Amino acid sequence: MSLGEFDIIARYFANHDHRADVLLGVGDDAAVLDVRGAGRRLVVAIDTIVEGVHFPRSIDASAIGYRALAVNLSDIAAMGAEPAWMTLSLSLPEAAEAWIAGFASGLLELAEQHDVALVGGDTVRGPLVVTVQLAGWVEEDKWLTRSGARPGDVLMISGIPGEAAAGLHVIQQHMPLTEAAAQLQWRFLRPRPRVALGRQIRTVATAAMDVSDGLLTDLQKLCAASQCGARLDIDALPTSTAMRELFDAEAAIDYALAGGDDYELIFTLPSQRLPELLAQRDPALPLTKIGIITAGSGVECERHGATFTPRRSGYDHFAVGESP
Ligand code: ADP
Ligand code: MG
Repeated sequence: MSLGEFDIIARYFANHDHRADVLLGVGDDAAVLDVRGAGRRLVVAIDTIVEGVHFPRSIDASAIGYRALAVNLSDIAAMGAEPAWMTLSLSLPEAAEAWIAGFASGLLELAEQHDVALVGGDTVRGPLVVTVQLAGWVEEDKWLTRSGARPGDVLMISGIPGEAAAGLHVIQQHMPLTEAAAQLQWRFLRPRPRVALGRQIRTVATAAMDVSDGLLTDLQKLCAASQCGARLDIDALPTSTAMRELFDAEAAIDYALAGGDDYELIFTLPSQRLPELLAQRDPALPLTKIGIITAGSGVECERHGATFTPRRSGYDHFAVGESP
């Protein structure tokens, strides 16, 4: 069934704006939020996902809704901030109710998990493009940036980089859905934004960033912002049983370094603070030391004690030869 713009908003997006600090939510010309709160700063992020660029045409609508918010939560996590309010701009080729219902369920399921209110948006006809803007807050004395890494700091990563890219490969190649394949596919469809980890490392990390375009590319950005280099220990990269079952070591390294879509956090901290961090960590989320920050520039990879040259570095929307 096809719905009008007003019905879409009323049915799917109008009643998810409940938080005590939402003074006026969906339904008026704009939302009004209570952003006071002594000792807090407002943090704002926005991300757009485009069909055919960020996700294949075939994936489930609920996964698209979920991912549209997950990518933003990941940015907020990388700042050490707590998410609170989002707006949604939805461009749809058609108003197919089943699709919209699925999309809304994925988006709002994740919003509820993180206590995020949907306070407004826009709904238009056009190519399938979803933009979510997410705002939240962080304590005024300390938020995380990409620019604070110092030579000698240890370089950490959460989770298992490469699993999401391997999962995308599973989807695109229509690989048989064994348990391992399904697990990897799920990592692409349902990335877990590391909001709790971001909050936890807020006071110990010197720099942090979320990995969306690929570990190498994103680490290069962190190094450039911090005006330092990094030595990445390829042997230390965590791998999962599912990865090992379906891909050889070279492919696993390639996915980990250049795959993208992980939405894990990379962060740096002085090595003497590592025990304190590890003592408080969530046992369900691996945190792995994968390298060290150096006084140089750029990222050097080392494997079995020798320099290692990766096959590719990561995703760049405007790189020559890249097209969706
Ligand atoms: P306007 O013409 O003033 O932009 P709209 O008709 O576009 O208003 O939207 C009406 C109300 O519904 C506004 O409060 C807007 O923020 C909200 N809204 C529109 N689309 C969405 C959406 N996809 N998700 C959440 N709120 C939406
Ligand atoms: Mg509008």
